[in-house]
Amino acid sequence: MTNTNLATSNADLGAVRSFACRFCAAPLRTTFVDLGMSPLCQTHIAPEGLHEMEPFYPLHAYVCDQCFLVQLQEFVSPASIFTEYAYFSSYSSSWVEHAKRYAEMAIGRFGLSGSSKVMEIASNDGYLLQHFVNARVPVLGIEPAANVAEVAVKKGIPTTVRFFGRETARQIAQEHGRPDLLLGNNVLAHVPDLNDFVAGMKILLAPTGAITMEFPHLQRLMAENQFDTIYHEHFSYFSFVAVEKVFKHHGLTMFDVEELPTHGGSLRIFARHTENTSLPVGPRVDALRRRETEEGFLSLQRYRGFGQQVMATKRKLLAFLIDAKQQGKKVIGYGAPGKGNTLLNYCGIRTDFLDFTVDANPYKQGKFTPGTRVPILPPEVIRQAKPDYVLILPWNLKTEIMKAASYISEWGGRFVVPIPEVTVL
Ligand SMILES: [Zn+2]
Repeated sequence: MTNTNLATSNADLGAVRSFACRFCAAPLRTTFVDLGMSPLCQTHIAPEGLHEMEPFYPLHAYVCDQCFLVQLQEFVSPASIFTEYAYFSSYSSSWVEHAKRYAEMAIGRFGLSGSSKVMEIASNDGYLLQHFVNARVPVLGIEPAANVAEVAVKKGIPTTVRFFGRETARQIAQEHGRPDLLLGNNVLAHVPDLNDFVAGMKILLAPTGAITMEFPHLQRLMAENQFDTIYHEHFSYFSFVAVEKVFKHHGLTMFDVEELPTHGGSLRIFARHTENTSLPVGPRVDALRRRETEEGFLSLQRYRGFGQQVMATKRKLLAFLIDAKQQGKKVIGYGAPGKGNTLLNYCGIRTDFLDFTVDANPYKQGKFTPGTRVPILPPEVIRQAKPDYVLILPWNLKTEIMKAASYISEWGGRFVVPIPEVTVL
């Protein structure tokens, strides 16, 4: 075979493998960042599985040349991730507190009462809707994971077990009526069929109702090198200008937006039917749209430098770890979150750098991190191990973790965060 033939066959392969934007269907050609091959972040390895092979999938994010939606290809079906979900929102006290403040805001702002209806998509164990129930506002949770929904129902929060989309929206509207407030937090990024999902919200929302959604803000992801928040279960990464386009296409208009500190920096968007002018568009919508446009989020150039920035972040972290190990220091990890999986796999950090990591979740203890096979132990072992450095993997929780393990200062131990760049605290 000549070189020309080889080139042709590779190009053919590329054509077969190319895929389309999940919003506008344009072919995806421009790399946002290529994080190599990575296993699924929730597949912690039990000791008996250590001798078996493990599936790895490309962790390659693209930006659409037409609509600027940053996205991953779908390798994992949502059914396999979410029908038996191990994450119970109520385990995080700061998240429950965040939900409570949200409910108080929404009840006041939208004048919700006993004659209103609130529905939440991906309502998890009812951590949020319980605050509406306490205020006697009727609710319905829509949750695909049966085991999580069961917990909500036991707490007195009516919940239907379904994935959300056009079909579900029609059924729910018929069976339960249409909500005055329809919300979804940290679900939009997990939706593979984005158009079906947003079209479903248009179908379900009452004529004068409001939608609110929260999701991590792409601008913060890029500004703070949060490449480790990219993993297979997160299909889309939104700027405000991109998400606004998606909603507009489905007849929904943004009328407000807030920037929140949660999950490394999130947006909370407020949307309504485009026909419903009774909710005026506030000044923050225009301000954020203008800011993102000025920062270049509607031009490919803005996205092209990110891959280099990520490589530089990796080299700085590895330089720190290599230096620490050459000095004979003991380094361990703290936490085994999804983002830790991306970080460890992309940077190639195994037990050559981290003796082990610890996690308070008993479900993960005794297992090993996916791909990198770092043992996950209970936090109590830190006292015996007396590490010189504790690398905090869920850096968004660093304040809580540094407080919980402040005793490492007794032997001169220090905390290290990897993101936005490696820093000894
Ligand atoms: Zn697109």
